Amino acid sequence: MEAGCRPDLDLVMGADKKDINLVFVRQGLRSYISVDLCRECPRQDNKGCCGHYSPVFYPADLFFIRRERPDLIEYIKGLPRLTILDFSITVDRLPDGDDLFRCQFHDPQQGCLLPVELRESVCRHFVCPGIGWWEEDNLAEWNNYFHHLADYEIALNNHIGAEMEKRGLSLRNPDDWDNIFTLIDELMQEALSRREAWGNHLPERESVWIKRRLTFGADWKL
Ligand code: SF4
Repeated sequence: MEAGCRPDLDLVMGADKKDINLVFVRQGLRSYISVDLCRECPRQDNKGCCGHYSPVFYPADLFFIRRERPDLIEYIKGLPRLTILDFSITVDRLPDGDDLFRCQFHDPQQGCLLPVELRESVCRHFVCPGIGWWEEDNLAEWNNYFHHLADYEIALNNHIGAEMEKRGLSLRNPDDWDNIFTLIDELMQEALSRREAWGNHLPERESVWIKRRLTFGADWKL
């Protein structure tokens, strides 16, 4: 968004730019990006991107949730609207006003109620296009890292899904859940024991500041 923006135009319009803090955290399959702008989301609707998204939990997510907070599996099972497929659980967003929605984990005062490490990959990696951090040359390595990570996670989940299918297991069948979790544990332990070399040149945590001109309401791109 900043590329191609003429400095003289900034002066003519008197446009203010805001300093935005992004923190990149590299911790393998639980890596994430945090953004301080979410606290005062320019959408000004008290939910921002979480008003548009229904998180989808795949086997790798279910593994970490069960390992860290097994109670959350029961909590998710009890939520009012779910779409359960063979190897994914989508927590469907709920209506929230006229033509509006809200993620079931989003609280207007506290934001996302899930610990960041237990969110699914879109929720851990997503930064709104209004910020567009990937346009910054000095963040190209982080961009590569998160692309690679997303591809790796998809391949890993597909692998686990294929192994479930071979054994005739599906999340659609509640009687299969115990066997599915045993299989997920085994395959995830295998995956975690393989040391992936990529990304090791990056710090485990990096805080950066970038400037962006804000727009408000529906003008702010999500
Ligand atoms: S799980 Fe959390 S971050 Fe993801 S859409 Fe829901 S409230 Fe937002």
